[in-house]
Amino acid sequence: MGIAGLWSLLEPVIEEVYLKECCGKRIAVDLSEWIVQCKSIPVNSQSGFESNTSFFVNRGLFFRALNLSKLGIILVFVMDGPQAPSRKGRYNRHLFVEICQQHKALFRAMGFLVLEANGEAEKLCAELNLNNLVDGVLSSDGDAIVYGAPVVYKGMFTDKKEQKASKFTMGNIVSKLQMDRNDLVTFALLSKGDISDGVHSVGEKRIHELLKELKNNGVKDSLERLKSWPFNAELISLEDQSHRLNEIQKSTHCTLCCHEGTKSKHSRAGCLMCQMDQGCLSSKEASDMKPALCVCQSCCIERNLNPYALELKIRRLALQQDANFPSEEIIREFLSPCNKLPESSSVRMSTPDFQALYKILLEKLRFPKVQAAKYIIPWTIMMAFNGILTGVAVEPVRILKSCTEQFEKCYRVKWSKLDFDDVSEETDNYYEVNMSSSLFAAKYPDLVKGFEKDKGKPSQKGKRKPVNDPYQRKLSDMFKVVKRSEGKNESVAKPTDMSRKPP
Ligand SMILES: [Zn+2]
Ligand SMILES: [Zn+2]
Ligand SMILES: [Zn+2]
Repeated sequence: MGIAGLWSLLEPVIEEVYLKECCGKRIAVDLSEWIVQCKSIPVNSQSGFESNTSFFVNRGLFFRALNLSKLGIILVFVMDGPQAPSRKGRYNRHLFVEICQQHKALFRAMGFLVLEANGEAEKLCAELNLNNLVDGVLSSDGDAIVYGAPVVYKGMFTDKKEQKASKFTMGNIVSKLQMDRNDLVTFALLSKGDISDGVHSVGEKRIHELLKELKNNGVKDSLERLKSWPFNAELISLEDQSHRLNEIQKSTHCTLCCHEGTKSKHSRAGCLMCQMDQGCLSSKEASDMKPALCVCQSCCIERNLNPYALELKIRRLALQQDANFPSEEIIREFLSPCNKLPESSSVRMSTPDFQALYKILLEKLRFPKVQAAKYIIPWTIMMAFNGILTGVAVEPVRILKSCTEQFEKCYRVKWSKLDFDDVSEETDNYYEVNMSSSLFAAKYPDLVKGFEKDKGKPSQKGKRKPVNDPYQRKLSDMFKVVKRSEGKNESVAKPTDMSRKPP
């Protein structure tokens, strides 16, 4: 569920990005978040399969990973570790870790790096990002931002046709919202989330207003301020004044000028504070003339309290709920690094293990082998084409034809068989895979030039010139054979034709 209200707080800094712009980027994913999301994929009753949760989750995870990596995105999966704080709304922690382990096999076989965090997966995702081991974190609940991830993507699957995502950067949060990471931790401590209970009856708007109030009062570090709440002398003194204010009986004040006295009395005999013998200044007039402020005890205290009104109110609620607010443990969880990080060179795609992958696709995801190949081969070719499969070279042989796929102009391209493909049939020495024509043309302009030139030539059918090339001659010989056989058919057909003719 994430941190309530965080996304609406960050709405002003959303950037829309096309997924294809993420080609070549390494993006960390909290695996348990994906499992939770895929579990809610509706079961298709037409499919003929029993509603087996693990089966649907597996398929959901497979297609997500397949589609994103096809675009050249290098996914790095992170699993929750045994010390992850228990999340509300999720499952039994041990059971969940077990489910994650089952799905790990699929992703490992696909060649993805799967890491195990010490605790919360999103925390490791953020640490990877902070240490430049990945270029961003894919997160739907935003915890990664509070954990310090400089770049967070959200909703990479919501719009399949447009293929867009929302991007949030810490840089924009700092420059456009004037908020830093400690402000986000402050927000997370006050708002209800997976890790923090928040402060009851304090909504996101008031937390946002509090952050502004703290800035207006010159507070440099909102989190340090929050940590000082139980013993902050200034706040305790203000709280005492607030109590005193409740005990004092405030005298009657004029509704027009807000000084002591009544409006009718002021209109008759004037107001000393407004320096008028008759009548007094309305608050609008007063703002231009700047008369003296009311010096009664109540007004003095009110003026002291006003700039801190929200802080005092929320502090009171927080300390009522927990005398030790804010929790040191939660702050440590958000701010202190705790994971052992992988070597930079290991954060990449590995060559898929076709044997293992086909086994899982056939047994666990129940695809027939032909269908499994229809997913795996184009996916592998696309990843290699996009340059994210290090050490795997793909060789286009030639363009077979132009076509369209999902409204996009494509070429049907013949590719040499991958040298590590030990699963495809022995007889298949080539693959035929569609490729976006613009992408293909950018990488193989000569093949495209050749194809377009040939396409422009008039059809050669029926204009066969005699050639000396022995191979060509063999073809024309075959052509003759066909002709002869056609002739034979004709002669067989003749009697029938003849019979139709009138005698
Ligand atoms: Zn007055
Ligand atoms: Zn007055
Ligand atoms: Zn007063």
